[in-house]
Amino acid sequence: MASASERSMSESEKPLLQVEKLVKRFPVRGGVLGRARAFVHAVDGVSFTLRAGETLGIVGESGCGKSTLARMIVGLIQPDTGMIRLRDRRVSGLSPRQMRPFRREIQFVFQDPYASLNPRLRAGTIVGEALENFAGLSGRELTDRVATLFARVGLHPAQMDKYPHEFSGGQRQRLGIARGLAVGPSLIVADEPVSALDVSVQAQVINLMMDLQQEFGLAYLFIAHDLAVVQHISHRVAVMYLGRIVELASQRSLFSAPLHPYTEALLNSVPLPDPATRSGTQVLAGEVPSPIRPPPGCHFHTRCPLAEARCRTEIPPMTETRPGHFVSCHVRAAANTSP
Ligand code: SF4
Repeated sequence: MASASERSMSESEKPLLQVEKLVKRFPVRGGVLGRARAFVHAVDGVSFTLRAGETLGIVGESGCGKSTLARMIVGLIQPDTGMIRLRDRRVSGLSPRQMRPFRREIQFVFQDPYASLNPRLRAGTIVGEALENFAGLSGRELTDRVATLFARVGLHPAQMDKYPHEFSGGQRQRLGIARGLAVGPSLIVADEPVSALDVSVQAQVINLMMDLQQEFGLAYLFIAHDLAVVQHISHRVAVMYLGRIVELASQRSLFSAPLHPYTEALLNSVPLPDPATRSGTQVLAGEVPSPIRPPPGCHFHTRCPLAEARCRTEIPPMTETRPGHFVSCHVRAAANTSP
């Protein structure tokens, strides 16, 4: 099967989603009065765009801010500063009522669909609720539409009468996808959607998502720590480290010629059947610094073998080193950009 980057992109090149300088900090409270003693810098100035029908994979170690980013984009939490636009219309900072027209456009697929499915409702009701609320369907029309959606995601319409606990993990994820699809979204934000599933089931769900993208022109923001999965499904990939995007490129360019030392180390940390075939030697050393006190300058300088004096004080700007390939690194940007 062709990977996502090998599939043609006939969709419009105009951004569906624009994320600009997004910042989110969470207070760490303490003392009798529960005052904020410090802040966790979860997302620290993230910007990117996403086109209709495109998949942008977001990778990074646990705690890098990718899940907080996902929750801001679907409106579950609000950014401190920065802007999120959908089709050129601001969707960050809106009240729940103002956000309602956009709700159906952006849907969320969770890592653990069981936690997001009401255990007291039958599966058909869970999917049908969205159709009732957003499309005003009822009666026979509603039942038929739910049955069609079940069939489309690989569930049997007879399973509409079952409760969430009667489904396997893979089936529950299919149910979560059906619920998201029900309202006709243009963007699905998927936060580790297959990481809790067996490898064979992961492949089935990923292939289903890729088929649905082709059929409905969906855009995906696909968040995962599994590089192989991200490589397979993504058109472009953003690498996050301590709340910032440090590299953003096409899937092919990022996996074949990574530029940021952190990306290289991440790729080198993937187990290979024959380690002697590994091209680079760099591996990740040390722990991720605390997001409460991220290192100044380049956040990666405490673990970077290429670090120079200015890395400790100057934040490296995102630099386009070749068409569509951006890196935030003083050394690699200078070495790979024409004067
Ligand atoms: Fe390493 Fe400096 Fe580049 Fe950061 S800016 S990745 S510390 S070389």
